[in-house]
Amino acid sequence: MHELSIAMSIVEMACEESDQRQGRVTAVHLKLGVLSGIVKEALLNAYEIACEDTPLSGSTLIVEEVPVAIFCQNCKTERQLSSIQLFCCGECGMATSEVVKGKELEVVALEIEECCPA
Ligand SMILES: [Zn+2]
Repeated sequence: MHELSIAMSIVEMACEESDQRQGRVTAVHLKLGVLSGIVKEALLNAYEIACEDTPLSGSTLIVEEVPVAIFCQNCKTERQLSSIQLFCCGECGMATSEVVKGKELEVVALEIEECCPA
């Protein structure tokens, strides 16, 4: 399962980060492009599995979905796609394959709770 290996690498990265900062990760913020090939629901499920028996157990994965954006040579600007099946500019209809957004799969922030000194 593709999503599980991705979830595990996210958890691993967040564990290292929390170790360094000596805190507890409460939430992981992730940007997920709609063209990344990752199913959000599957990733959320996989995340829960990947968190089990780790310091991240009980933390939340917060997924921000990134819509596809293309660069239109005709308009010379960034545009939204008119449809995901049709790689054409939403404004002028010019075909394009220059995807500038929508393939993201990146952790953008971690919420870390500082551990109180005993
Ligand atoms: Zn255009």
